[in-house]
Amino acid sequence: MGKIIDGKLISRDTREKIAERRAALYEKTGKVPGLAVVIVGDDPASKVYVRNKKKGCEEVGFYSEVHEMPADTTMEELAEKILSIVSRDEINGILVQLPLPSHLDERRVIDIIPPEKDVDAFHPVNTGKIMIGNYSFLPCTPAGVMKMLEYEGIDVTGKECVVVGRSNIVGKPMAMLLLQANGTVTVCHSRTRNLPEVTRRADILVSAVGRPKFITADMVKEGAVVIDVGMNRDESGKLCGDVDFDNVIEKASAITPVPGGVGVMTITMLLENTLRAAEAQWKCGK
Ligand code: NDP
Repeated sequence: MGKIIDGKLISRDTREKIAERRAALYEKTGKVPGLAVVIVGDDPASKVYVRNKKKGCEEVGFYSEVHEMPADTTMEELAEKILSIVSRDEINGILVQLPLPSHLDERRVIDIIPPEKDVDAFHPVNTGKIMIGNYSFLPCTPAGVMKMLEYEGIDVTGKECVVVGRSNIVGKPMAMLLLQANGTVTVCHSRTRNLPEVTRRADILVSAVGRPKFITADMVKEGAVVIDVGMNRDESGKLCGDVDFDNVIEKASAITPVPGGVGVMTITMLLENTLRAAEAQWKCGK
């Protein structure tokens, strides 16, 4: 039976280190890092994520503010709001909670955020930097996965890594980070042929699909490390990942649970990005 990788524990340790760096920054500058979150509309899941981000900020001693805008906000109103927030020195990072109502163009919204305050790392400049391996911020979810692998002493070098999912926010950057860590990386998607055959090759299997019990035990090699990025609801409305956890754990050498796995690390990495943004803007970086 595989080891359960404890996202809560890794997150707690990482947040303690962030809080220490925040204290050192405060010593030098008399200022604390600030994060602004903009949410448009009433999506209940988005509201929970935003609440957790605010709580995370409080935990490590950051300043945070949440800007709630109505669902019928226009592109111009949203752009104006973002520009007024990012012009303030006490705000080091900003993120606009996705998804946005369908009349708003997410790409345009992301493009408005100055790259140095783009703590989600979705701006094309930050995405491009990830591609060349010279980055200021990493997108939070893939960065959280890499932190978990590192914490568990799982060396990626030379390993067969299979990422299922190719979204801009998870799948693609995840593949890039595994490649930079010297993995041999395959990216799968809805058009991949013989998916189980490909996933069975994986020493490290990352699933970011968005379907409960999508990764079954027959898709997993004996001894593989299985990272479940999925955040789904099962038939009874309970939060679950993409992986058929109870059966896959029997074959995996290590596995992340949902909840208590990648999700909590994502917010922790957002805090780390906000700290890095503040250190860079106040020229106090390590
Ligand atoms: P997207 O819907 O943007 O991407 C899903 C990916 O899965 C696509 O690339 C799609 O392929 C692929 N896919 C769908 N069906 C299949 C299939 N039958 N076989 C192989 N691949 C398939 O989702 P996200 O990347 O945004 O999110 C993925 C999951 O991760 C969701 O559950 C989301 O909630 C969760 N998530 C969790 C986070 C966390 O903090 N833990 C953060 C962000 C997301 P194609 O491109 O061909 O359509």
